Amino acid sequence: MKIGFIGLGNMGAPMAANLARTHEVLGFDTVAAPDGLTLAASAAEAAEGADVVITMLPNGTILRTVAAEIHPAMTPGAVHLDCSTVDVDSARAVAAMAEAAGLSAIDAPVSGGIGGATNGTLTFMAGGPKAAFDTLVPLFDIMGQKAVHCGDAGNGQAAKICNNMILGVTMIATCEAFVLADKLGLDRQAMFDVVSTSSGSSWSMNTYCPAPGIGPQSPADNGYRPGFAAELMLKDLRLSQMAAEAADADTPMGLAAMELYAAFVEAEDGAGRDFSAMLPRFEKRGRN
Ligand code: NAD
Repeated sequence: MKIGFIGLGNMGAPMAANLARTHEVLGFDTVAAPDGLTLAASAAEAAEGADVVITMLPNGTILRTVAAEIHPAMTPGAVHLDCSTVDVDSARAVAAMAEAAGLSAIDAPVSGGIGGATNGTLTFMAGGPKAAFDTLVPLFDIMGQKAVHCGDAGNGQAAKICNNMILGVTMIATCEAFVLADKLGLDRQAMFDVVSTSSGSSWSMNTYCPAPGIGPQSPADNGYRPGFAAELMLKDLRLSQMAAEAADADTPMGLAAMELYAAFVEAEDGAGRDFSAMLPRFEKRGRN
């Protein structure tokens, strides 16, 4: 396939590099110029004549601007695959723009981080026409290990923000429970052995344990270097609250998690640290 790839940052560059091993890839980024990729002079040039144009951009506003630039340059029948994490409304607006231009659009945000992008082990959660999704399966197979079709346009973003709302909430709950256990004199290893095999278990405890030296290797064992940065968790929690407000969904735990990550990143020392560094944050505090 001929692929245009727009947004060659931390995630986009390794994803494009994996595709370029077996497909013709023309990349574009306003700033980044990674080695080993053929680069175009503009987003429209990267999109021209491509079967699939992939975007991996910071937010919905930029995605809408880039979509307006590339859709007129794309061949009718081609697919715009957006893998960025953006608000549901922007994903649906871009799908409507694509349809008006005779194109298909799939929103397929990813889970798996920079490691997953580099190793080709991302998980894609996709919204949009099933026929277009099916044509992209060979590309999902190169960039990832799993792709789930979640329904109509925007549903990939919906799945991503619901998943990450659960993740933010369970990480905070796991961290505060470790601190309570500490203060009650419960050994962290014993706490892990019980919870990881009991009804309090979760991915945050079992796979990504926030306590250093406990459980499998995680960013806690590496000085809380990300991993998944606290500011990216904050971004996703804000997107989930935007969506919850628009849909009139009552999400009090998601709101509390968003407020805690906002304080951590913007008023404390959370910026640049892994999102599991909530544990040392709680450790330093009392109830007031
Ligand atoms: P990044 O900031 O490293 O990369 C974004 C790139 O887009 C940058 O290189 C930037 O120069 C480029 N860009 C901005 N405006 C542009 C434009 N108009 N035209 C072309 N290029 C433009 O971000 P990232 O970490 O690669 O994340 C990309 C997306 O993936 C985000 O939506 C993020 O939320 C999501 N995501 C990131 C991770 C992660 O661990 N980094 C994990 C899952 C999802």
